[in-house]
Amino acid sequence: MKETSCIFCKIANGSIPCYKVYEDEYVIAFLDVNPASRGHTLVVPKEHFNDMTTCPHDILDHAFEVAQLIAQAQISQLGASGVNVITNVGESAGQSVKHFHIHVIPRYENDGLKLAFPPHKLEDREMLLLQDSIKKGM
Ligand code: AMP
Ligand code: ZN
Repeated sequence: MKETSCIFCKIANGSIPCYKVYEDEYVIAFLDVNPASRGHTLVVPKEHFNDMTTCPHDILDHAFEVAQLIAQAQISQLGASGVNVITNVGESAGQSVKHFHIHVIPRYENDGLKLAFPPHKLEDREMLLLQDSIKKGM
């Protein structure tokens, strides 16, 4: 996606409105317009990177620091008893906006939200191959 047509670039440069909770030179954070729970917030670098895998380390680190502050505020101010911190990479992972963002989703007792990871049992041989492949790619 081109920066000129990217909705998060437009939010970052102020050309479309948002419910902003935080802003500095590098990132902006605002309420998700379709919240999964009360206070669901997105942390977004102002510069356009398609996803977490292509974001430079300094900006990635900073974005997660801001996500931590937001999670702390959701706990202390909104009464959240837990928080899910998620970033989706690629359509198969559910990424719909191709501008890197971190979801900070406060969780409440009995909120009914399901972020399930159904387990898959793999053979030991396959686990070893997977371990090797990931190690080689790093
Ligand atoms: P993802 O599916 O991980 O790409 O998440 C994109 C998120 O952006 C979704 O949860 C949307 O609800 C949210 N979103 C899309 N447009 C806006 C907007 N204009 N303001 C706030 N949140 C938005
Ligand atoms: Zn963008």
